Amino acid sequence: MSQSSQNASLGKDAIDPAANLSAIKTEIEDALKEAGRPAESVVITAVSKQHDLERIRPVLNVGHRVFGENRVQEAMSKWPKLREEFSGIELRLIGPLQTNKVKEAVAFFDVIESIDRPKLAAALAKEMEKQSRRPRLLIQVNTGDEAQKAGVSPKDADAFLKECKKLGLDIEGLMCIPPVKDDPAPHFALLEKIAARNGLKKLSMGMSGDYLLAAQLGATHLRIGSAIFGPRPKKP
Ligand SMILES: *Cc1c(COP(=O)(O)O)cnc(C)c1O
Repeated sequence: MSQSSQNASLGKDAIDPAANLSAIKTEIEDALKEAGRPAESVVITAVSKQHDLERIRPVLNVGHRVFGENRVQEAMSKWPKLREEFSGIELRLIGPLQTNKVKEAVAFFDVIESIDRPKLAAALAKEMEKQSRRPRLLIQVNTGDEAQKAGVSPKDADAFLKECKKLGLDIEGLMCIPPVKDDPAPHFALLEKIAARNGLKKLSMGMSGDYLLAAQLGATHLRIGSAIFGPRPKKP
């Protein structure tokens, strides 16, 4: 049984994020071995959105340091306290970024994964210059070309990367969220292909339902939320 389906059968009180993470790591190590990829080639981004500090701390206590949040405001309300308590935290913005939040995002995040349009790229370039702060950057690709989903269309990705380079942005990789109903494998493969032809090294792909597949298909960052922290509380 995969870690995610185990969690589905657990009650809220029974959730042990540190134990979940440990089991997931073992699964990923095995998947990587099978795929002939070195164990250290993949980093788990623990997606802590909508969870409170009490749920997040156990994972920090066992030494995990890489976390993903999808909203600037929420992250800024939770993480200053945790950054005081624990050193070496890497915070990754994995949700859509509005240009009016660029200032906060540049100041607060270590990595921004959701660059997807020229206006945002230009605003980031300007703000990074102004703050002399350089979060690492990924471009989000809308591999399924879904109307409601953020991300640059695969056919525009190469041109957008060139544009980012012109703006002085050093893009280190790509991120995608495949359509819920699709087999994710072709989406992961497409992301890998776009990254490879553009010389990009980082691939953020794979979530609770498909992280082993993503690990086998070349992901460097797996964004795992509910399989670690349990189901998210309902949004207010
Ligand atoms: C919430 C979220 C995740 C984690 O989803 P799970 O299915 O809970 O693992 C990953 N990536 C993004 C962009 C998210 O918003």
